Amino acid sequence: RYLKEGRLYLTYISVRERERLIKEAQGLVEPLDFMTPVYSNRRPGRLSLEAGLRIYDLMSHRRDHRFYGQNEFSMRVPCVKQENLQGGFRFRDAQVDDARLVLRVINEALLWGGHAINYAGVIEISRNARGDVAGVVIKENETGETKQVLTRAVINATGSWAEKLHPSPDQSLHLRPLRGSHLVFPGWAFPFPEAVTFFHPADRRPIFIIPWEGVVIYGTTDVDHKNDLSLEPVISEGEISYLMDGLNSFFPSLEVSLKDAISSYAGIRPVLSRKQLAPSKESREHVVWIDRGLVTITGGKLTTFRELAADALKAAMPFLPSVKPAENEVIFRQIPDVLTDNRVSAAVLRRLTGRYGDGKREIIKDSSPEDLSNIPGTNTLWAEIRYAAKHEAIRHLEDLLLRRVRIGLITPEGGKEHIGRIKKLCAPVLPWDEGKWDTEINMYLEKWRQAHSVA
Ligand SMILES: Cc1cc2nc3c(=O)[nH]c(=O)nc-3n(C[C@H](O)[C@H](O)[C@H](O)COP(=O)(O)OP(=O)(O)OC[C@H]3O[C@@H](n4cnc5c(N)ncnc54)[C@H](O)[C@@H]3O)c2cc1C
Repeated sequence: RYLKEGRLYLTYISVRERERLIKEAQGLVEPLDFMTPVYSNRRPGRLSLEAGLRIYDLMSHRRDHRFYGQNEFSMRVPCVKQENLQGGFRFRDAQVDDARLVLRVINEALLWGGHAINYAGVIEISRNARGDVAGVVIKENETGETKQVLTRAVINATGSWAEKLHPSPDQSLHLRPLRGSHLVFPGWAFPFPEAVTFFHPADRRPIFIIPWEGVVIYGTTDVDHKNDLSLEPVISEGEISYLMDGLNSFFPSLEVSLKDAISSYAGIRPVLSRKQLAPSKESREHVVWIDRGLVTITGGKLTTFRELAADALKAAMPFLPSVKPAENEVIFRQIPDVLTDNRVSAAVLRRLTGRYGDGKREIIKDSSPEDLSNIPGTNTLWAEIRYAAKHEAIRHLEDLLLRRVRIGLITPEGGKEHIGRIKKLCAPVLPWDEGKWDTEINMYLEKWRQAHSVA
C-alpha cells in the first residue's frame, strides 16, 4: 500500500526495521508467508503486484516472492473465489504480538535502570519562568493522587493523545485518530495454513487473514474514531459488515459466519492529517515537535519504533547535554538459546525467549509439566500467565488476560472457562483476597462483554 502511494522511504525504513527485528527478536517477531490472489478483472493486476513485490525484495535484499498459477494457488488457498482467478503471489512479511513487543522494550529499559509506571498519566508539563521545561505533573488514575517529577526534558510519546500535552505547532497538521478493528476466529474456520491478503472490493484496501497465536485474526478497518479517547475502542456494526462483506466476496464458499467469531478488538492509530484525505490515504510518517525541552513524537508505525525513538532522543539531546544516544544500539539483549530443559521444545523456548527475554529461565524452572502445556486452542503456556502476574505490574485481571497474554481475545468468552485455573495459578503471586478476586472476575467479564464480544 505504501509503495502504491509512492511512499518509498517509509516502505524502505519499514522493511529494514522488519528485517532487523526478525533477526534481533526471534520468537517475538517472526517471518510469515502471505498469499494474495490475482484476478483478471480486478486491480492491482499481476504486473503491478509483481513490480511492487520486486521493489519490496530489493529493499530486503532477498528474493522472496513467487507467482502460482490458478490450480496451485487454489490448492494452497482453498475456497478462494474462482471466477476470473489467474493465480496469485506468495510473499514474505512478518508478525508480532504488539503488546509483548512493547513489554519486551519496557522490560529491557528496566534492566538498564529505567522506571516504568502504569495507571498514571502526565496531566501537566511544568515550566520555569523562562518557559523551559522543568518537569511533569503525574496523576495516579485510580487514587487521583498527583506528584511532580523534575526534569529538563520530556518526551511526549502519547500517540493520538499527544496534542493534549503539546498542541501542533503547524496549524494545518493535526492528529486524526483512526480506528482499526479485527475479528478473531478459531483456527479451524480457515482451511489454509498461510496468511492471506486481498483487496477489499469496496475501497481496494488490503485486508488480512492471519494465523496468530493458535487462532486467526481478520482485519483491519480504517475509520475515523469520533468517540471519547478515554474509553476502550470497540468495533462498530459498520466495520463488522465491511469485514464480512469482504470475506464473502473473496471466499463465497467458505462457510464462516459472524457466529463463528471468538472476539473482536479495536485500536487507534495516531495518524497526522493535513487535508482530511480518505483514512487509508493519510500518511503514516511521524513528526517530531520540539518546544523548549518538550519533545513530541507521534504518528509513524509500530515497525519503525526504533527509528522514532532515535529521532526523539536526538531531539531531546540539547536539553540533556550529558546523555549521548548510542547509534545503532541493539535493543534486545541476546539471550543464549541453549536448550537446558527437555520439558520444553525448541519452538517453545524460542517463543519464551522472544517474549520474556531472560524471564524464560524462571518460567521454565518454576513450572510443573502441566503448566508448561498450552492453554487449549492457543500457543500460550499456562506458565506465562503466572510469570506475567508476578512480574508485569498487574493491577486488574484485564491487564493480565488482555494485554500481558491474549487469552481474553483468543479463547471463547474471554477465557471464562479457564478462570478457575488461572486464579489457582496466580493466587500465590497476586496480593488479592477472595473478595478482590470476585470483583476482578466480574469486572473483567463485563469489560470483555462490552469491548470484545461479537454478540
Ligand atoms: C488496527 C491497527 C493495526 C495496525 N497495524 C500495524 C502494522 O501492521 N504495522 C505497524 O507498524 N503499525 C501498525 N499499527 C500502528 C501502530 O499500532 C501505531 O503506530 C503505534 O501503536 C503507535 O505507537 P505510539 O506509542 O506512538 O502510540 P500508542 O500505541 O497510541 O500509545 C500511546 C500511549 O500513551 C498513553 N498516554 C496517553 N496520554 C498519556 C498521558 N497524558 N500520560 C501518559 N501516558 C499517556 C496511552 O495510554 C497509550 O498507551 C496498527 C494500528 C492499529 C490500530
